[in-house]
Amino acid sequence: MSNRVDPSLIKELKEYGAVNIEACFNCGNCTAICPLTDSKHSFPRNMIRLVQMGFRKRIMKTPDPWLCYYCGDCSDTCPREAEPAETMMALRRWLTAQYDRSGHGAKLYTSEKAVWKAILQYSMIPVILLLIFHGLKALGVPGLDSFEIVTDRVALNAFAPVFWVWAVVLIDFVLLGSRLVRNIVHMFQLVMGELGRKIPLRIYIQEFKTFLLHTITQRRWLDCGEDRKRWFKHLLLISGYATMLILIVGLLWWFQTDELYPLFHPQRLLGYYATVVLLYATGEALIGRLRKREQIHRFSHPSDWLFPAFIFAGTVTGILVHIFRYAGWPWPTYLMYVLHVMVMISMLDTEVGIGKWTHLFYRPLAMYLERVKERAAEEPAPELAPVGAD
Ligand code: SF4
Ligand code: SF4
Repeated sequence: MSNRVDPSLIKELKEYGAVNIEACFNCGNCTAICPLTDSKHSFPRNMIRLVQMGFRKRIMKTPDPWLCYYCGDCSDTCPREAEPAETMMALRRWLTAQYDRSGHGAKLYTSEKAVWKAILQYSMIPVILLLIFHGLKALGVPGLDSFEIVTDRVALNAFAPVFWVWAVVLIDFVLLGSRLVRNIVHMFQLVMGELGRKIPLRIYIQEFKTFLLHTITQRRWLDCGEDRKRWFKHLLLISGYATMLILIVGLLWWFQTDELYPLFHPQRLLGYYATVVLLYATGEALIGRLRKREQIHRFSHPSDWLFPAFIFAGTVTGILVHIFRYAGWPWPTYLMYVLHVMVMISMLDTEVGIGKWTHLFYRPLAMYLERVKERAAEEPAPELAPVGAD
């Protein structure tokens, strides 16, 4: 491994949101105050040192940036205003981009022009598909009888038949899922390296519960800083997001229907639950970033805005589709539905596997791999065969 000093990493990391890293004189205050640092992981100081030295490979092999939950306490206490919490956040963005071998993630993190171009491209997918299907139906192509624009009442499942919408959702889900898996495997290879091959499979299987626990609860957040409300709000956000994901990917035939259900029908209650928590969690995150009062909101990178803004816009357009549908307004329902799908497709395609969304997987994966390494280190070393034995 080359340990040659590379000053270009500081400049590069600034594109990912790092602030004033050069000011750090390695006093160690930040590590002393950090509630998550321990004898095995003394971040953020050591990470800042590696950045100052430009040791890219060593940074790519460590899961430490994922073990920080961004309370901001270290930045509050830094005597040099080197903003160590922002360096840790920037490192997570940078690592996300490194895990993605296609380079797409790196472009989206470092170029606003690339983000707008991607949003424009992805958002056109539902428009183009609807034009193609309705156009082919008008030309008399068989098999597309279900496509129809009904204007005397709301008939969403004629405008965008649920079977076809579901097929597109599932194809996108498989494509994005494979991108996510590829990037997760790359992270695994970097973090575990040669060591991963020597660890018995049994330990990976036994410790998988660590991954599941941290994916579902993100419980390490409870040890990070004093504001436990952040953990709860994040849990709410995940529960709302997971509810919508199940309704759209697994149960779309039940969720997208022209039938108007009574208020307490489970389909409406689940939709309302997800809507309320998503609106609350993302609205609050956006307001916090606008106000910049808390330490963690003082230096928002464009990618920090993107994910909550997408979810907020997707939730608002979803509410409007619901209102127009129950009001019996066909055209406003269809147009708002198209806008809603444009937002959701743009969100998924710019976030899954390459954006902030992916933190949901990288954090628990880092915890899991650290636990696997610890377990492997605790195992007694295999006994050496006596000299001369076969
Ligand atoms: S980031 Fe600040 S607190 Fe941490 S080691 Fe550097 S100067 Fe000290
Ligand atoms: S942001 Fe909080 S958890 Fe992260 S390094 Fe700083 S003090 Fe530690």
